[in-house]
Amino acid sequence: MTKDKRTLIRPEGLPPTASWPVVTPIMPSVVYASETPDALDAQYEGRVAGYTYAREGHPNADVLARRIDAMEGASGGTVMGSGMAAVTAVMLGLLKAGDHVVGGDQLYGRSLRLMTQDLPRMGITTTLADPTDAQAMAAAIRPETRMILIELVSNPTLRVADLAGIAQVARDRGVLLVVDNTFTTPRAFRPFEHGADIVIHSVTKLLAGHSDVTLGYAVARDAALQKAIYDFAVTTGMTASPFDCWLAERGLATFDLRFDRAEANAAHLADHLAGLKGVKRVLYPLRADHPDSSRARAILGNRGCNMMSFELEGGRAAANAFAAAAEGIAFAPTLGDVGTTLSHPASSSHRALTSEGREALGIGEGFFRVSVGLEEPGALCDLFAHAAQASQG
Ligand SMILES: *Cc1c(COP(=O)(O)O)cnc(C)c1O
Repeated sequence: MTKDKRTLIRPEGLPPTASWPVVTPIMPSVVYASETPDALDAQYEGRVAGYTYAREGHPNADVLARRIDAMEGASGGTVMGSGMAAVTAVMLGLLKAGDHVVGGDQLYGRSLRLMTQDLPRMGITTTLADPTDAQAMAAAIRPETRMILIELVSNPTLRVADLAGIAQVARDRGVLLVVDNTFTTPRAFRPFEHGADIVIHSVTKLLAGHSDVTLGYAVARDAALQKAIYDFAVTTGMTASPFDCWLAERGLATFDLRFDRAEANAAHLADHLAGLKGVKRVLYPLRADHPDSSRARAILGNRGCNMMSFELEGGRAAANAFAAAAEGIAFAPTLGDVGTTLSHPASSSHRALTSEGREALGIGEGFFRVSVGLEEPGALCDLFAHAAQASQG
């Protein structure tokens, strides 16, 4: 029987072509149609591959996830709607009331909030400890501890965790080691090669790289753990948009080039700033004057990151003058963009702390964190020199 065209409210498909697109198509379809109930059974039972409903998975999320898997030396990772969705899915997908988690004491702000406000509300207790001190992390472990969450390089003082020590502790005590690899990225550091059980990314940052998508990714070495993370993400609707996944995939095409340039720029800018009048100190993990430089070299080799921090003489007044004079540098609380961004922790990420609390971390009113972008290095140094001069009145 020929189809009655009047019933065809849905398209019949794309025109036939013997050639194929070189760019991944964007597939926004929420639902996928199957031939028969038997065909659907085959799909649900895993005998054939296929999609059913986009919250459960869609081609653009899978294309992106496989790309990030390959970068991390992993398989089967899940892309989610944000980095925080990934952190949350790992914790709530794997933990239950009565469990205990140890976290680094300088985790990303919302990860800290999850640890200190939300998990306890659900009967999951938490302890924060200094990840540069594996003994302190070990001392925080209890019989009911299930998980350790750390970032290798902390924000904004760029302290480097004692990863080898912590991985040893996690192994000895049978605790899952979760590493948020957003700052270092697989270009500089692959946590699975250093004893991590689970890796998390805010894809929003360097991986996507253009400040135009919010996405996250989580992968567990163990397939059963990955299934639990995936199921929690699907049940709670942490779905990533196909268009966002597509943008992130396009961003990944230039990721290696972007990272290398931004990392070189960061090292260069740190050295340049260190020689400027009005700059009290500079923090970059690979600089010899950084408190963790030998550990950074041992873990990262000659790789670094695109983040650097510095402190101006003159406190808040100098900081105001610097931000105003740094024209073209976005004063914005993000990182990993193609353009350099400046963040002032005392008025943003760390504003909830008392000034004594901030001073204890080494974050004064003159402290800035810089996410270094891809600008021409000489021009970037000139701009920072101009702003530093302006900051000193
Ligand atoms: C930004 C960030 C997150 C959260 O990611 P979103 O995509 O903003 O939800 C988590 N961890 C680190 C280290 C981050 O920088």
